[in-house]
Amino acid sequence: MDAVLEDPVAPAGAATRLAAFIDAHPRLFVLTGAGISTASGIPDYRNRDGGWKRTPPITLQVFVGDALARSRYWARSLVGCRRFGVARPNAAHHALAALERRGRVALLVTQNVDGLHEAAGHEAVVDLHGRLDRVRCLGCERRLPRAQFQRELERRNPDWLAVDALDAPDGDADLEGLAFERFVVPDCADCGGLLKPDVVFFGENVPRERFERATQALEEADAMLVVGSSLMVYSGYRFARAAAQARKPIAALNLGRTRADELLSLKVEADCAAVLGAL
Ligand SMILES: [Zn+2]
Repeated sequence: MDAVLEDPVAPAGAATRLAAFIDAHPRLFVLTGAGISTASGIPDYRNRDGGWKRTPPITLQVFVGDALARSRYWARSLVGCRRFGVARPNAAHHALAALERRGRVALLVTQNVDGLHEAAGHEAVVDLHGRLDRVRCLGCERRLPRAQFQRELERRNPDWLAVDALDAPDGDADLEGLAFERFVVPDCADCGGLLKPDVVFFGENVPRERFERATQALEEADAMLVVGSSLMVYSGYRFARAAAQARKPIAALNLGRTRADELLSLKVEADCAAVLGAL
């Protein structure tokens, strides 16, 4: 391993090394995580050692099996969504979109659910864990825009409109100590089924077609570039492992350690937006 540590406040050398890696590999498989969106005001989940910064996110099992937990989820989401919905792509999203326009990105796979790559004009994107701007019925598979569901949540829970809270990842918000049992969560208007954000929860599998599209793109790529992910979640880590097994070089731009550190040929510990923006 030939890892290079960089001072986060002096990204010039980091940008040079990363630019050399990108120049050397014409077709990149890019994987992004929460670290690329922090400069857009969306906080991430993990500290520099890869541990949880806060309470781990809700699992599918709890969401489906516990009505109070579900109320709590949507109440926090109702409040958090108002901020999340206005986040804009930053220099890192724009730099990767520019790289795609130059024909250098085989595919961009993101673990984020914020839709900011698409907002930056990136075209070939696999949202591995779904999109927070859609809601899905677990009964009939109907999908509806989150904005529409947001209006319904607000209509049924007018008292909650005055609540403000700290922002949390994935449009969540910290609202400890509030009376979640009074929060009303509408079911599917068509079938009465449970409505769930169209994102992959912990305890849930990534849909097969997304995984297969990503795997094929990785096979056709020359190298892998990880941006803003600790790769602690297996759904992202397994691409790094597959790249290493196929002897494709891997570069990572991430503040802090990654689960794949020993697989990397280049490690740049610096701010994503500062480094990619300087390319
Ligand atoms: Zn339904």
